[in-house]
Amino acid sequence: MSEAEEQRWVTVMLDKLAAQESKRVLGDDELAERAERLSAQYFDGRARPTSVRWVTNQNTRWGSCTPSEGSIRLSHRLQGMPEYVVDYVLVHELAHLLVPGHGPRFWRLLEAYPRTERARGYLEGVVAAERLPHLPGARGE
Ligand SMILES: [Zn+2]
Repeated sequence: MSEAEEQRWVTVMLDKLAAQESKRVLGDDELAERAERLSAQYFDGRARPTSVRWVTNQNTRWGSCTPSEGSIRLSHRLQGMPEYVVDYVLVHELAHLLVPGHGPRFWRLLEAYPRTERARGYLEGVVAAERLPHLPGARGE
């Protein structure tokens, strides 16, 4: 193998690994750790969920939370979506532990997360694609 070929092979393998890694589903424990990290990074650790877990009974919302209990639930439909999208939904629900509703104060908090707009666009795109099931590839197949 020439050095150039070797370099190309390494790049291909790294891409494959990255793709597998991003498709790997986080367990509930990892999800809770991730939420803790995001809270520390964007909200000075002020949002402290007591539980963070996946649920399969949530098909119209990406995430939800019960501020009085400090619990956060994410729809299993997010599994397999890009990391920044899952992180956005986590950041969104974490913010609800601090500010209920979607008023200006809430969105100001969300501005801390740099990919808010991009993630919202991605999720809107997913919903739009689902409404057009006749489009080839609309369901990502
Ligand atoms: Zn919300």
